[in-house]
Amino acid sequence: MARNRSVSHVASARKSEFLAYIEIVRFELEAECPATGARAGRIHTAHGIIETPVFMPVGTQATVKGVMQRDLAAELDAHIILANTYHLFLRPGHELIRTLGGLHSFMSWPRAILTDSGGFQVFSLSHLRKISEDGVLFRSHLDGDAHLFTPESTVDVQFALASDIMMPLDECLDYPSSHEAANEAMLRTVRWARSAYQHFKRRIEETASASALFPIVQGSMFAGLRRDCAAQLLELDAPGYAIGGLSVGEPRSLSMEMTEITTPLLPRDRPRYVMGVGMPEELSEYVARGVDMMDCVLPSRNARNGCLFTSAGRVIIKQARYRDDPAPLDSNCNCITCRTHSRAYLRHLFQSGEMLFSTLATIHNLTHYLDIMRKMRQAILLGRFRAYLDNARNSAVEST
Ligand SMILES: [Zn+2]
Repeated sequence: MARNRSVSHVASARKSEFLAYIEIVRFELEAECPATGARAGRIHTAHGIIETPVFMPVGTQATVKGVMQRDLAAELDAHIILANTYHLFLRPGHELIRTLGGLHSFMSWPRAILTDSGGFQVFSLSHLRKISEDGVLFRSHLDGDAHLFTPESTVDVQFALASDIMMPLDECLDYPSSHEAANEAMLRTVRWARSAYQHFKRRIEETASASALFPIVQGSMFAGLRRDCAAQLLELDAPGYAIGGLSVGEPRSLSMEMTEITTPLLPRDRPRYVMGVGMPEELSEYVARGVDMMDCVLPSRNARNGCLFTSAGRVIIKQARYRDDPAPLDSNCNCITCRTHSRAYLRHLFQSGEMLFSTLATIHNLTHYLDIMRKMRQAILLGRFRAYLDNARNSAVEST
């Protein structure tokens, strides 16, 4: 009897330890701005704590283009980056990454990683896609090979990558879309999210992984559909929720409106992630609407194209006015690019097509974004976010 009790005691201790372990992706709300919906918090993951609001640099191919992992951690102090399931599934293949110890080990990034499901890329990049209730059949944009993504298979791919935060397969529409098409896609997204979530929970129990899956609210630009979608996804009781289907060509005011409608419907004690936004001047607008997490290729892509974001507005570095300019890119920025190099040198690198330009420019643009997020977080914690927002709005008006 004693032996049995002790075994059962060990089993129950293991179970509670296991439950504590699998619930490790957890949001801690630290402060809320009473005048807006802005929040400051912390997301606890197996790969560190992420202070929010947070902007996640995009590392599509398991690399933030041009930036070494050392600099992402030591210079930018990024605590989470985003990687892309669609691209890594096609090349080098998720099984290879699993064999090499998962994405953290493969790319030598010890901090948190969020992977999207690949849904957005299937709909925007692949050829000849065919949607059915099972999933989406598509041809690779690399070699034309046919593949099927299902709600379950995209979860399995993300388990092979071993990301901290995973996203379920969703159906993304172009803008504009009819109400009928948007409704159909939204309902399918909800059904796929349920299947993905059930499968995810089974896999979590098998693997004792510390990952989380954030369902994605869709509904195109229709407020009613967004509300219906959110209400149905809340039944999953997920540890975080995302708002998808924005930045697909709609006016910026509409992306903002859809966010504003959706965030109050999501649980206050879970992180809210708006996918694929925004411009530097929009970051505070999303945060003011209760958004905790964002990502966008804009700062890194624009950097490579010579468009640099500074505290005094945009700098198009190829312009002749910077040819002999000895000043740093942004005298208010403390990144290694601004600490070390002049605008004249950056312009020279850009005009010469030198690789170093992309590295220096990307480090600066991402630092600019991450600094904005850190300042907003401080303002929220100190109860000064309303003043921060007013100031940001005035600066945005002045620079246009
Ligand atoms: Zn800088």
